[in-house]
Amino acid sequence: MRTVDIKKNDEVEVIAGKDRGKRGRVVNVLPRENRVMVEGVARAKRHLPIRPTSRGGQTGGIILKEQFIDLSNVMVVCKSCGKATRIGHREDSGIKVRVCRRCEAEI
Ligand SMILES: [Zn+2]
Repeated sequence: MRTVDIKKNDEVEVIAGKDRGKRGRVVNVLPRENRVMVEGVARAKRHLPIRPTSRGGQTGGIILKEQFIDLSNVMVVCKSCGKATRIGHREDSGIKVRVCRRCEAEI
């Protein structure tokens, strides 16, 4: 099985789809389904049932909520060179680290 290199709180850039070019923080990853949720990306309107609250107001209506998108549609942004990059791996004294394929910096 292919390992998933993208983790929560990584900054990623969308490389495909209508949000192409957008950058955001990863808020959720579903490794088994190869899906990822990125802050501010792939927002869709969701209709919630309107319910009265105990304080006399109401909840529900239309909210904007991020949808999961395919992992192959995003690339991690390297903190060192600031570019979207593929991830390489290196072993540092027995510990596997993720590295930027462009500048070799640890991600
Ligand atoms: Zn880099």
